[in-house]
Amino acid sequence: MVNIQLTEHFSFNELTDSGAHPELVAQNRIEAQGYLKQLKHTAASLEEIRDALGVPLVVSSGFRNTALNNAVKGSATSKHKLGLCADFMPKGMDIHAAMEVLKKSNKLLSVRKVIFEGVKGKLWFHVQTKSIASEPTEFYVTSDGKNYTKVA
Ligand SMILES: [Zn+2]
Repeated sequence: MVNIQLTEHFSFNELTDSGAHPELVAQNRIEAQGYLKQLKHTAASLEEIRDALGVPLVVSSGFRNTALNNAVKGSATSKHKLGLCADFMPKGMDIHAAMEVLKKSNKLLSVRKVIFEGVKGKLWFHVQTKSIASEPTEFYVTSDGKNYTKVA
């Protein structure tokens, strides 16, 4: 599949890659095509963070199918499996300083959670986009302003 740009600075391939498990990436990308809408929301959250920090972000994990999520020992209910999260590091910026900037930022409109992860001596950020991104778009009609019929 041809790589597509999800937003200005983040691509489909970047949000479906795995440095630790390159053998699982091809199948991961096939399954990720069912989560394009969610990945676009996640990329939009990454854009807000990039803008708030003023530096590029190096994404290490985005969508993970079950095999990849198991391989990295992710939680069974991880929102990475729904394409709603990404792990990243700010490029050329101390992660503690970055956390302080993000906590004060008013630019994170679509960001649900920022988790500062410090596990086994490694540091990274985990961002979750607002869960509305995972809800389907619904269509209704009304002829009296009171009763609404769902049509799709
Ligand atoms: Zn994560």
